[in-house]
Amino acid sequence: MKICIDAGHYGKYNRSPAVAAYYESDMVWKLHLLQKKYLEQYEGVTVITTRPNQATDKGLFERGACSAGCDLFISDHSNAVGNGVNESVDYVAVYHLVDDTTTKVDDISKEIAERLAPVIAEVMGASQGGRTVTRKSDGDRNGDGIMNDNYYGVLHGARMVNTPGLILEHSFHTNTKMTNWLLNDANLDKLAKAEVEVLAAYFGLKKKGEATKTGLQATDLKNLSDEQVIAKVGALFTADQEKTGILASVSFAQFILESGYGKSELAQNANNCFGMKKSLSGNTWGGSSWDGSSIYTKQTKEQNPDGTYETITADFRKYPCVEDSIADHSAYLLGAKNGSELRYAGLKGCTDYKKAIQIIKDGGYATSLTYVEKLCSIIEKWNLTQYDVKSGGDTDVMYRVQVGAYSKKENADNQVKKLKSDGFDTYLIQVDGLYKVQVGAYSVKTNAENMIAKLKAKGYDCFITTKGGQAVSEASKKKSVEEIAKEIYHGQCSDSRWDTWGNGDTRVERLTAVGYDADEVQKAVNALF
Ligand SMILES: [Zn+2]
Repeated sequence: MKICIDAGHYGKYNRSPAVAAYYESDMVWKLHLLQKKYLEQYEGVTVITTRPNQATDKGLFERGACSAGCDLFISDHSNAVGNGVNESVDYVAVYHLVDDTTTKVDDISKEIAERLAPVIAEVMGASQGGRTVTRKSDGDRNGDGIMNDNYYGVLHGARMVNTPGLILEHSFHTNTKMTNWLLNDANLDKLAKAEVEVLAAYFGLKKKGEATKTGLQATDLKNLSDEQVIAKVGALFTADQEKTGILASVSFAQFILESGYGKSELAQNANNCFGMKKSLSGNTWGGSSWDGSSIYTKQTKEQNPDGTYETITADFRKYPCVEDSIADHSAYLLGAKNGSELRYAGLKGCTDYKKAIQIIKDGGYATSLTYVEKLCSIIEKWNLTQYDVKSGGDTDVMYRVQVGAYSKKENADNQVKKLKSDGFDTYLIQVDGLYKVQVGAYSVKTNAENMIAKLKAKGYDCFITTKGGQAVSEASKKKSVEEIAKEIYHGQCSDSRWDTWGNGDTRVERLTAVGYDADEVQKAVNALF
């Protein structure tokens, strides 16, 4: 399997009239190297490029013809309309080879173009979508007497060496929004990844070094009763919630509804328990456990908004085990976007199953008009909330939300003050010679993530750490000696690092760490007896 990628222009070429920092030649040089990098992550793929470096000029035909012996030729570009800025034109165009009855390479290029165009448009958020285009030359370029030659030199070159060729026009650098988008390296990375995933799926490529996984096979569920299936797979959903923050009861009910207790055709043949199609939200969401290429094709019935049904043929994802199907489904729910918005915003960490299901339905997950009611009744029938992760958790790891680390205490104190005035319960710890400002410590990671979201919304830079440290007294001392004594008396502890204040030396250590006089507290405790 060999692919030839062409950075569409050399040197400093096609400066954007909208954003002066942008040159089409810079963008395509970066993009084609990223495409190469991601393609080379697949087994048996060789990638060649048309230029040894960005400065090298090469003819159009020559570049297309470089692809002799390749399975695909791609030329990367961004488009332009007119000479100035034009904010109204914003679409992705994939040019493929013109129709030709003497070869199959035109059909292949057309098929790939049809898969790429919508994906690129979705990743880029192009307001006018993606389209596929061909352009025929006015002349008979190869002199065979048939007027079916390609207008574009690179495509003509590719066709002449029998390679399916494509020109990818990544929207317009005459459009300010798109130009700025293309100037962002993280966007180019995302773009290259998504494009390569389309190619990998088309050519059935396998990622290098992927270990063969062992896990639950849906076929193991085939002869079990509904009760037995629930007992067998329940723990998988609890484990998934711990990782993803999506309610186990909700994913579990979806599993039951969508796979018929793991017995559907799709589950039995592909371990696909959620009807996950090959292409979902342009596959631009991260963390997928699917290999990007294994598919199972079947007919499926979909309900229209008016309630009528229609049957379509579709490609579905195939997984090595049920665990991967659950993981992929959750990754999709967490990452799928509608334009720039998360489709299922608010789902992560939602602990109310009715609310969670409504979020899923509202995000456009299912076409069935009774989806919410069906899932709720499944949860209630089987008491699936018993599989939900109990709040509080039972792990020793604490997820601490950190909002800055300072070598000077004064700076740390200022940050604490600012956070407090914004309503955040804040404390200061000392670790590795630094003053670290933390806002809450949680045994459930999702809760820490929710706090991160709140802080970020207020403009704070923050992250989760599991590292604790020595509390710095002034910032932590919030309760009176009498209140702390009462906590000790009742076996409680308001400091989130510990379940109790402990006994003996431990108690002294903890109280001192938080800035209390241990003797004074102990006296108050004794007075309570
Ligand atoms: Zn170009």
